[in-house]
Amino acid sequence: MTIIEPPKQEPNIGEPEAALTPPEAETRGETENASTLPEAENEGVAQASAEPRGKFSVFSSVQTILAYAFLMATLFTLFSPDNLFSGQMIDRLFEAWQANPTLVAPISTPLPSQPSNRIGIVSGHWKNDSGAICENGLTEEQVNLTIASLVQQYLTDEGFQVDLLQEFDPRLSQYQAIVLLSIHADTCEYINDTATGFKVAAALDSAYPENANRLTNCLIDRYAKVTGLAYKNYTTADMTSYHAFGEVNTETTAAIIETGYLNLDQQILTQEPEKIAQGIVDGLLCYIRNENVDIPQQTTP
Ligand SMILES: [Zn+2]
Repeated sequence: MTIIEPPKQEPNIGEPEAALTPPEAETRGETENASTLPEAENEGVAQASAEPRGKFSVFSSVQTILAYAFLMATLFTLFSPDNLFSGQMIDRLFEAWQANPTLVAPISTPLPSQPSNRIGIVSGHWKNDSGAICENGLTEEQVNLTIASLVQQYLTDEGFQVDLLQEFDPRLSQYQAIVLLSIHADTCEYINDTATGFKVAAALDSAYPENANRLTNCLIDRYAKVTGLAYKNYTTADMTSYHAFGEVNTETTAAIIETGYLNLDQQILTQEPEKIAQGIVDGLLCYIRNENVDIPQQTTP
């Protein structure tokens, strides 16, 4: 799963700055109004029906302007040729639109991205590097993406909100979800006849290490049962110090799975990705639904 770190990108400051800076006159006006705004808004909420129509529309206009400014800021922040027409961009815009009511009714509301129903799936190496490469041209990135997309689909069918994340997805920073799982596969080189099976590692420095342990046990047990692949009871530094573990919010239980070896397990990984995905989904549901799970047996490394 060796990951090639992406080059640091220059932050794209020009456009969003320009979009967010209002003309001078407007700034002055807003500053003047700022001190009276909260009081007036409270009044507006309490006596909306009794207020003269004129006053109400002033606020409604301010709110509309704020709402559009917020949308435009989001639009410009997201604007880049890479994501302009992607589904992700549309999702973000929709989220921004959903978040708008907090501007119209400025009561203290919880953040729009409540983690209670959210699951993050990192598709290993996606949009960063190919990962392991086989002689026949098969890449780990492709294999991971097929599996990760199926996992997303199955979990969505179960009623969860699933984010399919790139290897170095910007959303990983302080990411909040009930669980985050990164999906990888092992090398395509032939090592020896025992280089088969799967590995799991969890982020043990999370806020709740016991949850990380239970997630690991659930994944090991269910994945082995569904796929028939053997659990390899050792992990590499690549796994235990996986970069995303240090990026996500410490409240988010996170783990990484190496689904199998691209050499000896290539058949099942590429021909039966549904089974692989189902094994992962069963493991995640075992964790989320607090199902009983046996402590995994210490199988051969
Ligand atoms: Zn990998």
